[in-house]
Amino acid sequence: MTVGESLDFSHLYSEETKSRKSSPLKTCIHLFQDPNIVFLGGGLPLSKYFPWDNLQAESPLPPFPNGIGAAPSGDAKDTCVTTVPKDGVSKAGNTTDIPLSRALQYGFSMGQPELLSFVREHTQLVHKMQYKDWDVLATIGNTGSWESTLRIFCNRGDTILAEKYSFSSSVYAAEAQGVNVFPVPLDADGLIPERLEAILDNWNPETPKPKLLYTIPTGQNPTGSSLSDDRKKEIYRIAQKHDFIIIEDEPYYFLQMDAYEKDPSKRKAIKFASHDDFVNSLAKSFISLDTEGRVIRMDSFSKVLGPGTRLGWLVGSKKILKAYVQLHEMTIQNPSGFSQAIVAGTLNRWGQHGFLDWLIGLRQEYNEKRDVAMDALYKYVPSTPALSISPPIAGMFFTVNIDASAHPEFATKYQSKPELVEQAIYEKVISCGVLVVPGIWFKADGETTPPQPKESKAEPNPNGIFFRGTYAAVPLDKLQDGIKRFGAALKEEFGL
Ligand code: PMP
Ligand code: PLP
Repeated sequence: MTVGESLDFSHLYSEETKSRKSSPLKTCIHLFQDPNIVFLGGGLPLSKYFPWDNLQAESPLPPFPNGIGAAPSGDAKDTCVTTVPKDGVSKAGNTTDIPLSRALQYGFSMGQPELLSFVREHTQLVHKMQYKDWDVLATIGNTGSWESTLRIFCNRGDTILAEKYSFSSSVYAAEAQGVNVFPVPLDADGLIPERLEAILDNWNPETPKPKLLYTIPTGQNPTGSSLSDDRKKEIYRIAQKHDFIIIEDEPYYFLQMDAYEKDPSKRKAIKFASHDDFVNSLAKSFISLDTEGRVIRMDSFSKVLGPGTRLGWLVGSKKILKAYVQLHEMTIQNPSGFSQAIVAGTLNRWGQHGFLDWLIGLRQEYNEKRDVAMDALYKYVPSTPALSISPPIAGMFFTVNIDASAHPEFATKYQSKPELVEQAIYEKVISCGVLVVPGIWFKADGETTPPQPKESKAEPNPNGIFFRGTYAAVPLDKLQDGIKRFGAALKEEFGL
């Protein structure tokens, strides 16, 4: 198959990006590595004044026969030892480590080559990229990637699109930059393409059209929904029609699971015949459909290795990534050298298949947690049409959807206002000793001036509210206990 080059999307850049120049000092930093150059060009401290001589970490060893939660014993049979030297070479898989003298020095705004090559190979393996000039860029995780994205594309007063309920930090980050977040309705299968298209087809011509769609396709935060592959194709077509960029924020991509099976005796152990089988079982990403460089994918190690690594990566066209590098040169410079050195050292020792083994192990863990949470929800949440549960197939979150109008005091005490019922339930669940969070905290409700047509925000279910809980954060016995308390609170509130 022949693949083409990405398109130029610089017409969508912000004024800030258009006026940003490359820092001139950064244009010569690569010469620091050139043995023929006496580098007197920058304030780089001598590496002999870095106090660390090496960095060592032990982790479990693929294929993780005891499960990914089993601590390494220190024995060679189940322990992967990563030792990163200050200088020189230590072999990690088929690459070498990032020596600390380089990891802790200035330079390499894109990220260290040993990390980038692993992530590039992983991206090709999983997403099978469909245009030539794509690349990856190391980041400090998706929070930072989103902040950078907003600055690269948006001016104050611009509007972007997002799922009607979305990760609150992302919504607030946009609002803090003066960007409106216009809501697009979603259901159990994620964003609804027909509604997205109608919003854009009827966009008020007196207001600038949205440049970005921010979406969390897999295990959406907060609704727990996952966008179907068919809908992704439709949304990509709409992006081409209305010329916007799709930002896929995918921290939960590898927390995909089997569909929930209510009958425990029918549940199957998670086994894949091969790594290819595992990769083929995954949802199609937007980046894998992209032939034009219209998608920017934000990936993060937070949910698969640890949030404190503060390490992730972007996938996009080289043209667009250049704008990120220029911004990063003036903000984060690059992710921490310690983090890059340890993470790249471990991953390059595990190898691509070892990392996939880790992700398969993670899938087993989350599958079990999800099953325990769902079993408890079906057991403890009263069975009534006013309360519904849709089992997630990815991510960390479950939701209980509630018809607020079924509350016995809806029309009286709560004046037919669903948000008042939501607040009352929130207070009740806390008094019952559990914390789940109200959906309203995640509501994106931006509006343009002048506004969009009323139908663009039409809500078929105006009395619908929901609560978000997670099965990620506590051991299984506590999870069951928490859901039992949540069920009791709902029972009391609804007088059941
Ligand atoms: N401010 C000044 C005045 C500097 O000279 C430098 C380093 N050359 C920086 C900031 C960058 O510092 P940091 O590495 O802590 O981001
Ligand atoms: N994006 C979404 C949708 C999230 O749910 C989270 C996690 O809380 C993040 C981004 C933060 O990710 P990171 O730790 O990579 O900054």
